[in-house]
Amino acid sequence: MNRVAYIPIGWELLDGTSIDTNSKKLSDLLFNYGLGLSLKVTVGDQADLIKRALGFSLNSDVELVVISGGLGSTDDDLTRRAISKFLGVDLEFNEDCWHEISEKVKSRGLPLLEKLKLQAMIPAKCELLPNPVGTACGFFCKKEGKIVAVLPGVPAEFEKMAEILMERLYGGKRKNLFLKILKVYGISEASLNELLLSVIKRFPVFTFAFLPDAPEIRLKIKGYDVSVAEWKSLAAEIERVAGKYIYSWENKPIAKVFGEELEKRGLFFAVAESCTGGLVAKTITDIPGSSHYFDRGFVTYSNEAKMDHLKVKRETLERYGAVSEETAREMVLGVLEHSNADIAASITGIAGPAGGTAEKPVGTVYTAIADREGRIEVVRNFFPGDREHVRRYTMYKVLLGVVKWLKRFYPL
Ligand code: ATP
Ligand code: MG
Repeated sequence: MNRVAYIPIGWELLDGTSIDTNSKKLSDLLFNYGLGLSLKVTVGDQADLIKRALGFSLNSDVELVVISGGLGSTDDDLTRRAISKFLGVDLEFNEDCWHEISEKVKSRGLPLLEKLKLQAMIPAKCELLPNPVGTACGFFCKKEGKIVAVLPGVPAEFEKMAEILMERLYGGKRKNLFLKILKVYGISEASLNELLLSVIKRFPVFTFAFLPDAPEIRLKIKGYDVSVAEWKSLAAEIERVAGKYIYSWENKPIAKVFGEELEKRGLFFAVAESCTGGLVAKTITDIPGSSHYFDRGFVTYSNEAKMDHLKVKRETLERYGAVSEETAREMVLGVLEHSNADIAASITGIAGPAGGTAEKPVGTVYTAIADREGRIEVVRNFFPGDREHVRRYTMYKVLLGVVKWLKRFYPL
């Protein structure tokens, strides 16, 4: 299925001025036709580079080569000349293309510059691809039994014209796509892969991709013309071997899963955060409608704040320290006492880079969860990485810890 090559052209894509976003658009589109990119060669605006990239792509196992960029009328836009030389044909003035350009330019009240005629030149024997967005026409032709298509680089133009190209080439051959993205937490990418090895082998109609985004992994499962029964039996197998690590079968954001579990039960949550500085509350309230289950958040960074707002005892802070099991415990009980929440959490830790000790190194974070039925659990965690990492891992731990708690103590 991966039988397409893409050649984005432009120095700006190589020096970091622009990011190649067209690849993703093209990949998404190809997927609809049961195709995918097998290779991408980004080149600068230089004729010999363009020709070499095209030669290399045509020598690969592809049926279509898509080229983009350098079709404009500025001096660095030399794609059309390079391609016509490669194809061994002349550039010809295309009346239809010129008509399109003239109409567009006139309707915008701009002068019809002679230079624009360059945009109406396309290699002989190529078919014109109209540009519904901008002025530069695209074109495509056959070479060695393969299709070479040339489109503008401007993302809005590229996207529309790539759609037109695919309809022209493969119209009516759209496939029934199957795409699922599962969210996985609490296992490494390698271990997850290992767990799923035999399942992957037994279901060859599906393709699997592991996309880590620490601390979670997105497991992308694709297929074409897959039956409901096939998916159901695959899902049952995945559930059996790795179900306990999957927190969403529907690619839902962590805060959405968290919110839905609370809302289903009609429960409210509140949190006291120290080292995460409000990240947990922010993540929860990123979801519209979070007022249905989120009561409040306390950002109690200093000892004074912990004492003032949560009634953590001075003695506890002095004796055990702000980052301690005892403080986390008093914090979470303080949240229950000073809020309307049914279930609460607290966080106190060392996100770094400074502040670590031999006994409590950077990355040590105490998290606690408690509810109004007297249950309380305090955990000492160690999260690796820099400050941002530690905070992000902590947020995951708390949100998914609450989800687990709800499923365990508040079954539906
Ligand atoms: P125009 O007719 O507007 O000149 P063009 O085909 O000559 O179009 P370029 O000059 O190569 O296109 O690029 C136009 C703009 O599109 C630039 O800002 C460039 O950075 C951007 N661009 C080019 N290729 C890509 C790509 N693959 N992904 C995202 N942006 C791109
Ligand atoms: Mg360019």
